[in-house]
Amino acid sequence: MAQIRFNALNALMSRQPVNVAQPAKKTSEYFAENVFDQQNMREYLSAEAYDTVKDAIDNGARIPRKFADQVSSGMKAWAISKGVTHYTHWFHPLTGSTAEKHDAFFEPTGTGGVIESFEGAKLVQQEPDASSFPSGGLRNTFEARGYTAWDPSSPAFIFDRTLCIPTIFVSYTGEALDYKTPLLKSLAVLNDAAVDICQYYDKNVSKVNATLGWEQEYFLVDSALYMARPDLMLTGRTLMGHASAKDQQLEDHYFGTIPGRASAFMRDFEIEGYKLGIPIKTRHNEVAPNQFECAPVYEEANLAVDHNMLLMDLMKKVARRHNFDVLFHEKPFKGVNGSGKHNNWSMATDTGVNLLSPGKNPKSNMQFLTFMVNTIKAVHEHADLLRASIVSGSNEHRLGASEAPPSIMSVFIGDYLTKVLDELEQRVTDKKMTPDEKTEIKLDIGRIPEILLDNTDRNRTSPFAFTGDRFEFRAVGSNANCAAPMTFLTLAVADQLKKFKVEVDKKIEAGVKKDEAIFQVLKKFIIASKPIRFEGNGYSEEWIKEAKKRKLTNVKETIKALESLVSVSTKKLCKTHNIFTERELEARHDIKVVHYTKKLQIESRVLGDLATNHIIPTVYKYQNQLIENVKGLKQVLDAKDFDQIASIQLQTIKEISGRIALIKIKVKNMVEERKKANAIDDIYEKARLYAEDVKPYLSEIRYHIDHLEMIVDNEIWPLPKYRELLFAR
Ligand code: ADP
Ligand code: MG
Repeated sequence: MAQIRFNALNALMSRQPVNVAQPAKKTSEYFAENVFDQQNMREYLSAEAYDTVKDAIDNGARIPRKFADQVSSGMKAWAISKGVTHYTHWFHPLTGSTAEKHDAFFEPTGTGGVIESFEGAKLVQQEPDASSFPSGGLRNTFEARGYTAWDPSSPAFIFDRTLCIPTIFVSYTGEALDYKTPLLKSLAVLNDAAVDICQYYDKNVSKVNATLGWEQEYFLVDSALYMARPDLMLTGRTLMGHASAKDQQLEDHYFGTIPGRASAFMRDFEIEGYKLGIPIKTRHNEVAPNQFECAPVYEEANLAVDHNMLLMDLMKKVARRHNFDVLFHEKPFKGVNGSGKHNNWSMATDTGVNLLSPGKNPKSNMQFLTFMVNTIKAVHEHADLLRASIVSGSNEHRLGASEAPPSIMSVFIGDYLTKVLDELEQRVTDKKMTPDEKTEIKLDIGRIPEILLDNTDRNRTSPFAFTGDRFEFRAVGSNANCAAPMTFLTLAVADQLKKFKVEVDKKIEAGVKKDEAIFQVLKKFIIASKPIRFEGNGYSEEWIKEAKKRKLTNVKETIKALESLVSVSTKKLCKTHNIFTERELEARHDIKVVHYTKKLQIESRVLGDLATNHIIPTVYKYQNQLIENVKGLKQVLDAKDFDQIASIQLQTIKEISGRIALIKIKVKNMVEERKKANAIDDIYEKARLYAEDVKPYLSEIRYHIDHLEMIVDNEIWPLPKYRELLFAR
């Protein structure tokens, strides 16, 4: 067995960085060359067709059939000119990855030949056999049909010589079966709500987009080592492995020199990413050894989500060329940092204003404050839903592990803004304010820009932190599709903005001046959402106590946290804005719960197999060596010396026997618990049994294996060790 480990290490020793051919052109010259963007559309579409697509992108207008035909034939011509032979609808089913089914462009002519064809109907809508995608009961097998429908707001692109058309994915009866449908709906609601609010300050605003800049963390592991770790291959994380003597304690990896092979890989996927129009801007080493991060320039949220999913796929593919496997799991290694995907989020107007950026004059600062306070209020109101949008079995290992935000939702805004909100709270009154008072308050807000410019005060322990001109939702997992947290965050803020407007307008109607009305409602929201604001150390014990006092929820268990997807308030929120019906929410909840169970089932099976078939036989071998050794000692030593010298050996033999026995018993019990859970039909009860009765065995069994790793001869240990996985370059 150890053969595999040493073969892998040998393979690794001869690795060289792959030579990545830099394109002869400047990045700007080939950026988005594989995207059917506005420039390509101008070239390949009639002016009329171009205008219709543009209208669909900007205003969500429908594209008439006649133009769809024109667009599809333009797309086809463009794609074929680039050597493309196939096309596919590209969507985000609830599996968590992307889906595609390629069809060739050619059609038989009926007279023995073939021609290239791609009609508008095939661009606009397709009907993939969807019976194998998770639907949470939304689709009966006899109604297996699902529809994919073109999303013109995210441009088509060429990937692997295939024309990919981003689409939504819905059931025969119209229910969403994907991540994109609800995201697009929420973004539209936000646009509506935010444009209305902007009218208080600037009549020129006619469109507001949510913006998203994700920071993607990941680990790189050499493929040979990866293949020698069945747990990594099948579960994405290591289910065993004693800590390496050195890991991240010297803090020498973060922002360090990027190792040659990793850097070649990064350049390679960046070049491929640029061709796809993904504006990857930043790369650096992360905290843990062999952990890295990349981040693009932010984009409109729907496009940013598509780009993130595409890039993750691309990274996996490119990694193979470099003999790497990319780990997106939130916690692949025990004891070192896990990986997140910070979602930097803001809102931008079509007049070029970032609504979460303090402006240059009192008016724009009032606007900033309005969006700021409403966002805080939204997070307070829907904290449980936001948590539910980011939890998963794998993220569970990372959250609250003193390296990532805890399971308590809170908002960090920094000292200065705290002071501004506190003052507003005190100074705004329900009585008529004097012009002086108003001016004074506005002046205060007016100081925000200068203060924020040199405000380096960042809080890395907050799950939702203001970082100067955006919020950073830091609890999102590295493997997640950002669409879910973006959908609910956007929706919660939109809902808040609508409520805000209703209250302000009511006051204005009652004769209160606009300024004053806004101040008064802001004050009310500031007070109501105060408990969610926390500036201290989110990893500390005190915060847990303090949060409890403030009646903030702290839900560590995934299954429990997921319940908020179907809570009364979530159902109401989603129904009010026509994002999800109750049935759709319940379906989504069910899919998550079942997914959680299945993942645990797989982990438990893999661990059982590794313990029984890899570890125990190896340990027996070593134990036999010790026994032989003791027998030999007995022959060569006299009785007195033997008792003394062999006693240490015997202790080791006994410890090994004890741990083997415990591992065997625990594996057997774990299998029993699994059987019990598997016999249950109710998916929630089954998940609960898995979480409470099966899951604890994973760490208990691991505990003994990790101890054995420290005892057994290194030469025969079968699995690559942590030091090899984390430090092999
Ligand atoms: P840090 O590590 O300091 O948080 P990074 O530079 O790694 O910062 O990433 C910050 C991310 O935030 C980038 O993707 C950036 O484009 C994004 N970002 C900046 N401004 C906005 C904004 N207004 N809306 C959304 N994302 C933004
Ligand atoms: Mg960063």
